[in-house]
Amino acid sequence: AATKQNVTRSDMKCDPQEIARALREVLPAERDVISLHEPRFNGNEWIYVKECLDSGWVSSVGKFVDRFEDDLAAYTGARRAIAVVNGTAALHVCLLLAGVVRNDEVLVPALTFIATANAVAYCGAIPHFIDSEERTLGVDPVALAARLAEIAELRPDGCYNRQTGRRIKALVPMHTFGHPVDLDPLLETCREFRIELIEDAAESLGSYYKGRHTGTFGRLSALSFNGNKTITTGGGGAILTNDEELGKLAKHITTTAKVPHRWEFNHDMTGYNYRMPNINAALGCAQLEQLPEFLAAKRTLAERYQKAFSGIDGIRFFSEPEFARSNYWLNTLLLDEECAGERDALLTVTNNMGIMTRPAWTLMHKLPMCADCPKMELPVAESLERRLINIPSSAGLI
Ligand SMILES: *Cc1c(COP(=O)(O)O)cnc(C)c1O
Repeated sequence: AATKQNVTRSDMKCDPQEIARALREVLPAERDVISLHEPRFNGNEWIYVKECLDSGWVSSVGKFVDRFEDDLAAYTGARRAIAVVNGTAALHVCLLLAGVVRNDEVLVPALTFIATANAVAYCGAIPHFIDSEERTLGVDPVALAARLAEIAELRPDGCYNRQTGRRIKALVPMHTFGHPVDLDPLLETCREFRIELIEDAAESLGSYYKGRHTGTFGRLSALSFNGNKTITTGGGGAILTNDEELGKLAKHITTTAKVPHRWEFNHDMTGYNYRMPNINAALGCAQLEQLPEFLAAKRTLAERYQKAFSGIDGIRFFSEPEFARSNYWLNTLLLDEECAGERDALLTVTNNMGIMTRPAWTLMHKLPMCADCPKMELPVAESLERRLINIPSSAGLI
C-alpha cells in the first residue's frame, strides 16, 4: 500500500490514460514510434546472405535450405521440417497431405488470422468455426467436444456433420499470439471422432506444451517466418511432421513433384512451387541462431508488462496457462467485459502517442467469404474480439 501511494492512480476503472501511462513506463523512453513487432538482425544475416550472392545460389536450391530444415527439426524436435515460401502455403500443403478434399469441412477457430481459413478454402473445403476459451485464447476443447457430440456422426469413411451432410476431415487449432492451446483434450476428441489434427503453429516457434514444442503434436503442422513473426526469413514458412513418409511427400509436392534425374523433367503428380529460396533460408539460419536470445528478451518484456498492469483495475495482461511455456510473440491485454467500451479510446490514445496497438482480428465468420460457413455459438470469441488489444512485443524493446 505504501508504494501504491506514490503512483498516480485513476479513480476510473480501465482509464485509457492510466493504461497508456503504464505502457509508456515499460517501453524505451528514447523511441518516438514503437511498432507492434519488428525484426532484429544482429547475427550472421549479412554473412550468410553474402555467401548466397557470392556463390550464385540464391534460388530454389542451396545449402542454406538444407541447413535451415535440419536446424528447425533439431530445434523443434520434429522428425522432418520442410521450408516453404510462407506459412499459408505450409498450411495448404498440411491440409492436402492430411487428405482434405473438396467439400470436406475443416474445424478452425473463429478467432484466428485469415490464413487458417484461406488454406482450407484453397483445398475446396469449408471452414467450420469453433469457439475459443479465455484461458488459452485458442480452441475450447470442452465446447468442441460438445459441438461434435451434437452434430457428428461416425461412418466407415470418417466423421460426418449430420446438419450439412459433409465429412469433417480435420481440426486446425492455432496457438494464438504464441500461447499454446490445450492440446491433450483436443487430441483425444480427434481420436474419438477420427478427425486429423493439424496445428497452425505459425505464431508459436519457441512455445512449448507440457515441455514439448508446439507443432509436433499434430500429424502435420505449419510455421511462419513472415516479417512480423518471432524469427523471419523475409517471407517464409515450414511444414513440420514426425512421419518420415509424409515428410518426404511434403518435400516432393512443394518442389513441383519433380522426379529426381540429372536432366529429365518428369513430374509424377500436381505439385506446387512452394519451396523456400536459398537466400531466405540464409536469413532463417542466422535468425534461428538468435532465437534463444529473442525468447529471453520477450519473456522479460512480458514480465515487465505483467507487473505494470497488475495494479490497474479493469484490465488484465494475458499470461501463459500453467501447462505451457509461451514465446510471448504478441503481448495481449484483455479489458474486463464492462470496459469493452473503452477499447477504441485506448487504441486511439496509444497510437496517437506513437505506440502501436491493435485490436484482435475480425472474427472469421463475419468476413464476406465465410458468411455462409457452418459455425457453433461463439460467445467467448465474440467477447475476446471486443476486449482484446495487442501491445508492442519486439525482442528489441529489451
Ligand atoms: C502468420 C500466420 C500464418 C501464416 O502467414 P504467412 O504470412 O503466410 O507466413 C498463418 N496462420 C496464422 C495464425 C498466422 O499468424
